[in-house]
Amino acid sequence: MHLQQRILVTGGAGFLGSHLCERLLAQGADVLCADNFFTGTRNNIEHLLDHKHFELTRHDVTFPLYVEVDEIYNLACPASPIHYQRDPVQTTKTSVHGAINMLGLAKRVKAKILQASTSEVYGDPNVHPQPEQYWGHVNPVGPRSCYDEGKRCAETLFFDYWRQHKLRIKVARIFNTYGPRMHPNDGRVVSNFIIQALLGRDLTVYGDGTQTRSFCYVDDLIDGLMKLMATKDQITGPINIGNPIEFSMLELAATVIEMTGSRSRVVHRSLPENDPRQRRPDISRAQEVLSWTPRTQLKEGLIRTIAYFEKLLKENDVRAILATDQVT
Ligand code: NAD
Ligand code: UDP
Repeated sequence: MHLQQRILVTGGAGFLGSHLCERLLAQGADVLCADNFFTGTRNNIEHLLDHKHFELTRHDVTFPLYVEVDEIYNLACPASPIHYQRDPVQTTKTSVHGAINMLGLAKRVKAKILQASTSEVYGDPNVHPQPEQYWGHVNPVGPRSCYDEGKRCAETLFFDYWRQHKLRIKVARIFNTYGPRMHPNDGRVVSNFIIQALLGRDLTVYGDGTQTRSFCYVDDLIDGLMKLMATKDQITGPINIGNPIEFSMLELAATVIEMTGSRSRVVHRSLPENDPRQRRPDISRAQEVLSWTPRTQLKEGLIRTIAYFEKLLKENDVRAILATDQVT
């Protein structure tokens, strides 16, 4: 008889997944991390490899997985636009086939399953801030569609397994999250600006920089996911998890320059196609249902993230970090 909670984290070697594995182990669970290392790295979980309750398996979620677990956090999917647009067909397969395989597993072993969905299901929203009831404004045939529509279809599958097979599901819509272990070269704005500022290079603001995002620190995000997993069976979500404080990219650039004491300047580059104008979660549902609210102020989170990248740049050859894409 196995009394300890056995928890599967797909995408566990990625940015969010590695933090989640760490927190679940600290809580006393047995953690199985399944990852195909498309964007994740062994470095992210190296410190966990000797933990007696941690197990790592190289696995692609587009193929079935046969394990015995009590809970599944389905995080497997590249999250940055550069990475998910590299092999868009594989991105859709990861979201859709991955969801089918993990839901099938949950059904067989009667596990509770949480989906890492995304604010991208709202597309370029014309309702602001975005509540969960909003159905979104998504281009089905653009360069971001493999990710947006893949995640939307995964949500559909979760809710159909819930209605049809009575599965215990939880769907979290994650908004932009940052923190240590973000990829140094995945093109996301927080990591880009910090590295550019630390190297004294120009900060590349796309478009006029008035577009907005709301940034959640990773520890707060993981708290939210774990709280959602712990809710009663009738709570399915979708629930927005993110920080509702909104910043323009120009404000973010100025903050990073100030905090790093850098002499870098801002330069403007063209805005990527279908780049959402604004994004901010309405988190009333998370506050009410999960009693969750993000606690980390942007500056506090940036201090820790800047320290992480400073160390990374000191310990590694900068050119190697920036030239070699971590995608294998
Ligand atoms: P990440 O790229 O660091 O992590 C994703 C992990 O999934 C990587 O370790 C990667 O190797 C793995 N993976 C990719 N395809 C796989 C496959 N077919 N089989 C097995 N493993 C696979 O990204 P992240 O920021 O940690 O995001 C984790 C999850 O959270 C993703 O599902 C993402 O869509 C979601 N999310 C993240 C954010 C954010 O701001 N970080 C926002 C919204 C949603
Ligand atoms: N962005 C930017 N400079 C960069 C990278 C990104 O101005 O070097 C902008 C990007 O156009 C978008 C915002 O920052 O408006 C957030 O981009 P990111 O890729 O981090 O996340 P997403 O667009 O998926 O929210």
